[in-house]
Amino acid sequence: MYQNLLFDWSGTLVDDLPPTLYATNAVLAEHGVPSMDREEFRNRFRLPYPEFYEEVLPGVPIHSLEDTFRSAFRDSPEQVTILPHAVEMLEWCAENEIRTFLLSSVDIGLFNQQAEKFGVLHYFEEIYAAVVDKRQQIGPLLETHSLKKEETAFVGDMEHDIATAHYGGVDSVALGTGYDPLERLKKVDPTHLFDDLRGLLELLK
Ligand SMILES: [Mg+2]
Repeated sequence: MYQNLLFDWSGTLVDDLPPTLYATNAVLAEHGVPSMDREEFRNRFRLPYPEFYEEVLPGVPIHSLEDTFRSAFRDSPEQVTILPHAVEMLEWCAENEIRTFLLSSVDIGLFNQQAEKFGVLHYFEEIYAAVVDKRQQIGPLLETHSLKKEETAFVGDMEHDIATAHYGGVDSVALGTGYDPLERLKKVDPTHLFDDLRGLLELLK
């Protein structure tokens, strides 16, 4: 089984969809674009996120959106929650000497704040946050830490995560707890597909 697990953050270990939607709508409102509801957002949002913003706010430089996004995210009435089995998963990896890494597009400041709040920061051997295109990072990550491809899997909730695993030549674990619905994830051919982290935990055990 796997000796190394790369984890995505949003939708994989935490549920940040409500504050992300709130912050996205704040950014859209600033540019006079109507709000999206949860369904529309899930249908349209994709990674790498600059593609999404180019579609919804064409021509607007992405760095000009970041301050509004971050402050609205912090002010959101609904906050980030840790997903079921996430702590148990990371704890199990630590006990069984499975090396764990974070590979995520999440803003580094928001990640540190959330990971510390949920008490999971120390579980990661190294953190790769604010990665815009994960496909460009997975090769260097594997090489830097001498991770064998056949012993490694990337766990995520979006098509881009599965594409990243394929690109890096490692297995992929798709979870239905996040942004992309299971039917969409199924189409991109992940190695494993589970409703939530419990499925992965049972597989590993
Ligand atoms: Mg995610």
